[in-house]
Amino acid sequence: MVLRVAVIGAGICGLSSIKCCLEEGLEPTCFEQSGDIGGLWRFEENSEEGRASIYKSVIINTSKEMMCFSDFPIPAEFPNFMHNSKIMEYFRMYTEHFDLLKYIRFKTSVVSVTKRPDFPTTGQWEVVTETEGNQESAVFDGVMVCTGHHTNAHLPLDSFPGIEKFKGRYFHSRDYKSPQEFSGKRAIVIGLGNSGVDLAVELSHTAEQVFLSTRRGAWILSRIAEAGYPMDTIYVTRYVQLLRHIVPLSLVNYYAEKKLNAKFNHEIYGLQPGHSQHPTFNDDLPNRIISGKVLIKPNIREFTETGAIFEDNTREGNIDVVVFATGYSFSFPFLADCVKVVENQISLYKYVFLSHLEKPTLAFIGLIQPLGAIMPLAELQGRWATRVFKGLNRLPSARDMVADIAQKREEMRYTIQADYIQYMDEVGCLVGVKPSLLSLLLDPKLAMEVFFGPCTPYQYRLRGPGKWDGARQAILTQRDRIITPLKTRVLDDYTKPTVLISYCS
Ligand code: FAD
Ligand code: NAP
Repeated sequence: MVLRVAVIGAGICGLSSIKCCLEEGLEPTCFEQSGDIGGLWRFEENSEEGRASIYKSVIINTSKEMMCFSDFPIPAEFPNFMHNSKIMEYFRMYTEHFDLLKYIRFKTSVVSVTKRPDFPTTGQWEVVTETEGNQESAVFDGVMVCTGHHTNAHLPLDSFPGIEKFKGRYFHSRDYKSPQEFSGKRAIVIGLGNSGVDLAVELSHTAEQVFLSTRRGAWILSRIAEAGYPMDTIYVTRYVQLLRHIVPLSLVNYYAEKKLNAKFNHEIYGLQPGHSQHPTFNDDLPNRIISGKVLIKPNIREFTETGAIFEDNTREGNIDVVVFATGYSFSFPFLADCVKVVENQISLYKYVFLSHLEKPTLAFIGLIQPLGAIMPLAELQGRWATRVFKGLNRLPSARDMVADIAQKREEMRYTIQADYIQYMDEVGCLVGVKPSLLSLLLDPKLAMEVFFGPCTPYQYRLRGPGKWDGARQAILTQRDRIITPLKTRVLDDYTKPTVLISYCS
């Protein structure tokens, strides 16, 4: 009998989950409350309630070779760091190529997911959906929750005394779209995550003055690394991973901080974090700081009618607008009976399965904050989850899962943060698709690229279930696809001496 799976949400995690179901011969039905695919990446001036919302200029901070789905490389001519519209183009190509659209029921919200009375033996779920006011109920053998975790704005007004008397405008970064209306204004942006920094930089081009307030600081990383290659293609490699494990952590940190500070000293620029922190990517921030358009400030102690007093007792007045780029929280209202999210945390085995269910037929996909792209991780989670649904992979005992969750929590530095390669290998092992470097020795060219090159998602299609014949070629040509979009001015003769500095006599 074919197992029926409900996929909730048609963002990137939902799309890859449908595809994973099809690969394993399961029958997916995807419910998407909005009218289109793409979730967060589909920019609209007014996104629907319940769907994540981005600003018009968002450019992804994970590069194309590292963020693509493992058997569908992003076209060579696409830029390495894509604008959200280009990302949507790729997701539409993926959807069309694997013919996924016909499995999606748009404008259909999932309102509840509950265990059937015979759940302990069947593992089945009752899924209630609503389409244009009409409710329907159906039974599914498995459920994949793909509703994202950047939807609910975290607006911690309680931590900001006096905000009620502030006479200017304030809002969460979720509601920011573009800078035009803030031209000539004095703005405070709170939060040094990617949203806060992107917004501060963008506003600073037209605003009179931008103040960027941070309570803890952050390391600011560049998208671009050595020789202009995307940062993640240089540092997310098995070779660097190995070095990180054999070199003492203090030395790794010393080297990394020295390198980051060589570009601009984080202490002098007021950005130095006092603790280990999810890094922020921005190439323009130091430039905006040194030109005085963005001024870094400490946390806000209290708001006044016209501005703010910061924790160092400095004040800024005549503030027109405050943007709270203070992050997101997540919840699963349709699963209220069996899932509890406490302080933005949920206990999941390998970030996918609840440990206490009688049957492993509920999977959370993409509920992870990797130091790398979410898409390949979510895809691998989907490949694993569908195999667990089918009984091809088994979960450990509840006790062992709880112990594993506790250990991960201990290692974790951020609520749902995971080390990219380590996590991909862990789940890859469970699916049976982690590349075997030993057997790759028979193919030295490939082995070299797998070990020293970027750890691209194709590595998890070289063998095992879901093996893709194009994986080897995709790995061997990945550097070409990185360079192709840059070749817009091809020089005939590289050997000619160039003149960087000329001396006049
Ligand atoms: P979403 O894209 O949020 O999609 C969830 C879908 O579920 C939506 O379509 C929604 O309508 C639907 N849905 C929700 N509830 C229901 C329901 N009850 N019934 C039916 N449908 C429902 N990640 C990266 O890897 N690289 C980046 O550079 C990056 N940049 C980011 C930039 C911004 C500004 C933000 C906010 C996030 C960024 N992320 C990035 C993280 C981002 O969350 C992921 O890239 C990804 O979009 C998550 O996809 P998803 O499918 O899990 O969720
Ligand atoms: P975030 O990463 O959670 O950052 C939130 C920021 O708000 C942090 O600096 C945090 O400070 C601060 N903050 C939270 N509560 C606070 C409080 N009570 N008082 C003062 N400061 C507070 O959120 P985000 O920047 O919106 O990013 C969300 C996700 O989207 C991330 O995965 C990010 O990578 C992604 N994103 C990507 C891009 C891009 O690709 N270009 C752009 C935007 C966002 P502490 O660190 O001190 O807690």
